[in-house]
Amino acid sequence: MTSNLTTVSYIGAAILFILSLGGLANPETARRGNLLGMIGMTVAVLATVLGPRVSAAGIPYVVGALVVGGALGIVAAKKVQMTQMPELVALMHSLVGLAACLVGFASYVDTSVQFSGAEKAIHEVEIYVGILIGAVTFAGSVIAFGKLSGKIGGKPLLLPARHWLNLAALLVVIVSDRAFLHAGSIQDGMTPLVLMTAIALLFGVHMVMAIGGADMPVVVSMLNSYSGWAAAATGFMLGNDLLIVVGALVGSSGAILSYIMCRAMNRNFISVIAGGFGTASGAPAAAGGGAQPAGEVVAVSSAETAELLRDAKSVIIVPGYGMAVAQAQHTVYELTKVLREKGVDVRFAIHPVAGRMPGHMNVLLAEAKVPYNIVMEMDEINADFPEADVSMVIGANDIVNPAAQEDPASPIAGMPVLEVWKAKTSIVMKRSMASGYAGVDNPLFYKDNNRMLFGDAKAMLSEIFGALTA
Ligand code: NDP
Repeated sequence: MTSNLTTVSYIGAAILFILSLGGLANPETARRGNLLGMIGMTVAVLATVLGPRVSAAGIPYVVGALVVGGALGIVAAKKVQMTQMPELVALMHSLVGLAACLVGFASYVDTSVQFSGAEKAIHEVEIYVGILIGAVTFAGSVIAFGKLSGKIGGKPLLLPARHWLNLAALLVVIVSDRAFLHAGSIQDGMTPLVLMTAIALLFGVHMVMAIGGADMPVVVSMLNSYSGWAAAATGFMLGNDLLIVVGALVGSSGAILSYIMCRAMNRNFISVIAGGFGTASGAPAAAGGGAQPAGEVVAVSSAETAELLRDAKSVIIVPGYGMAVAQAQHTVYELTKVLREKGVDVRFAIHPVAGRMPGHMNVLLAEAKVPYNIVMEMDEINADFPEADVSMVIGANDIVNPAAQEDPASPIAGMPVLEVWKAKTSIVMKRSMASGYAGVDNPLFYKDNNRMLFGDAKAMLSEIFGALTA
């Protein structure tokens, strides 16, 4: 393949990636977006492998790597549960970071291409910055994987003087950069490069360890952004324009998503990155921090729930992580159909961080064929709860916690929540009184108009469906 044809293919692939991102912005066009992305990636890989930069002798290695990587990808994608998707995404971000580091070291020790003067300086800055971003992304993503999969606790780790530690790390990185750029030989440059890599790895670990459980959605999208910048840096090191474009697309879309998530959770982006959220006024993280809820918990049966739903004119369903765990979305859809046939107005209220990844609930409901026009975003529906007869919470907890509004000492104070308690009756479906991801108690369970339906979401919904159709 000539270099001109490769360039044209790269431009085509870049256009396909942009169209793919556009498609992914809406559940109705997301499938098409995914397909365009897959075609774009196939074009990109073929153009690179068959392009002038890969020699014929190198092709068997590339094909071997593609077969091994592709096989691992297929096995992982088939095995992973929908609820484990964020962990998988975090793991994949870590691989992008690791690749950036490895490419950086390989470019540095590669003597086949000789640079001099300004070119040499630019190439070395690319290597330094690429490894820096890659190492932070790699270490941060591994810790995010640990936190999301529950292997590491969700409590933020707050080291004393942690901001000073970060500042000191930054200073060492800057000083090492000078030493690296002025090194006389590869051996001399290796010491500051390895030192910076070690500090970047520690910084990545520290940064994500310091972030509280409820703020993990922001971290996931932030690491997504970092992985994009790491890929762009790799593109600079390898002189691959497409990698630079794609990396910048991922980096900037991830940054925009992080900003949107912060706004949705009423968090300040810088404060989230600096860590420590999820704790009350800097005190050690408290599972159940804030006031103890007062009142009595009233349990209901599925038959009583069916009665309440049958008598209702308007029902708002709030799905959360538990619906995903129970894989109850199809049963929710069946129930919705029956209720709508009976003339009940049923709508869904989606919180921006419901579940374990952005858009988690929308994907599940779309998969179950719930019509899009009854699935509402938080801002569209929150004011309607006072008019609803029943609000039914399915496996959600933090996103319906009134403490966010009522208790300034709560670790989730200030986060917008769905005001389900304003409905005539709220029903919370979950297996126990256990807290949600943020690890805080939920006063909703103790409110006078709230009822608890204890059990697995899918089993309970099937029982309600049975009672309604009997
Ligand atoms: P939560 O984690 O707050 O609550 C989920 C609830 O589901 C639990 O309390 C659990 O209670 C219940 N549950 C679990 N399994 C089942 C089951 N089989 N049947 C019925 N109930 C079940 O989830 P939310 O969706 O309310 O809130 C999301 C949380 O996750 C927020 O804190 C958010 O910050 C965080 N997060 C979100 C991400 C995102 O991008 N959206 C990423 C990472 C974290 P019990 O054990 O009693 O059944």
